[in-house]
Amino acid sequence: MSNKPPVLGIIGGGQLGSMLANAAKKLNIKTIILSDDQSAPGQKFCDKFFYSSYKDEKKINSFIDLVDIVTFEFENIPYDTLKNIEKFKPVLPIPEINKVVQNRKKEKLFLNEIGIRTTEWAFINSKNDIKKNISLLPGILKTCTSGYDGKGQFVINSLNDVKEDWCFSTDYILEKKVNLKKEISIIITRFKNGKTVIYDPIENIHQNQILKKSKIPADIESKLFQQSQKDTKNIAKNLNFVGTMCVEYFIDHQDVLLANEIAPRVHNSGHLTINAYNISQFECHIRAICNLEMITLKKIKNAEMFNIIGSEIEDYRNKSYKKNEFFFDYLKKEIKDKRKMGHLTVLMK
Ligand code: ADP
Ligand code: MG
Repeated sequence: MSNKPPVLGIIGGGQLGSMLANAAKKLNIKTIILSDDQSAPGQKFCDKFFYSSYKDEKKINSFIDLVDIVTFEFENIPYDTLKNIEKFKPVLPIPEINKVVQNRKKEKLFLNEIGIRTTEWAFINSKNDIKKNISLLPGILKTCTSGYDGKGQFVINSLNDVKEDWCFSTDYILEKKVNLKKEISIIITRFKNGKTVIYDPIENIHQNQILKKSKIPADIESKLFQQSQKDTKNIAKNLNFVGTMCVEYFIDHQDVLLANEIAPRVHNSGHLTINAYNISQFECHIRAICNLEMITLKKIKNAEMFNIIGSEIEDYRNKSYKKNEFFFDYLKKEIKDKRKMGHLTVLMK
């Protein structure tokens, strides 16, 4: 690669795209965001903004012309769109990964095949399939594709909860409900040469299936600390991953570690790395995909991060903050119920 910094294309212009663009700026890398949301907040943070559907070939071609490398902030971009872009410019992480993680069944099969334990689960296409897997109840029925922040999930305590008019027009998996002791996530960045940097486990607290709070250190046994990092390295290697990714884990009351899901991108639970580490998950991602130097991670402080959801943002906008408090307003145009509007990171003394 020449010494001239590359121009980075980012697909998706939400808060993750915004924070990636900010991290790139710090490294003197120009960014162009492409989003199908005309009011995407990312446009305030990048150098150029393209408003386009993910299927508009003409617009996407002019985006491709202007960038050297393409990455993305969320995994549900159509696979064919990423494959088309890849004909002209490198896409990192590679689109094949999305094919696996866009689909909960493929994701679980992949994890189990490489020896990573998950919740017990079954593929479901009809009420009868649920009957055949009654041992998984109480369970959670999840659509195989397009779910996030608890969307597309249904708790099933008994067969009575399966309504007669459910038509199972899409594919589902049924997961046994885990009696959770804790949830943690591991964020890792893997470089092109296969070397990795990995953050300490982050403890996550959800409310109504949406992440509410993340903190470091996670209050877990050192055995789980090590195993979660080891499993995450194994997952990243087997995906041939380049960039930053996250694995969410459940810990049950017997201290069994179960991989829940893979996010092939920077992750909400890693926002605290902006203030609590020498290098954030966003900067690590840019360094890895642009083939820049890998820097050893150092935790500067313990920290807690609070997601600000829906109308809660109004209070936060009017507050004043202490030196150890960092408020991020995602500058979203509309306040919506259950929508992530900002976050606050508090560094501990
Ligand atoms: P999403 O894609 O919406 O993040 P997840 O599968 O991560 O979907 O589910 C969101 C949250 O719901 C989890 O972080 C966890 O708190 C809860 N949850 C999901 N599946 C289970 C399960 N099998 N047992 C217990 N809790 C679960
Ligand atoms: Mg999740």
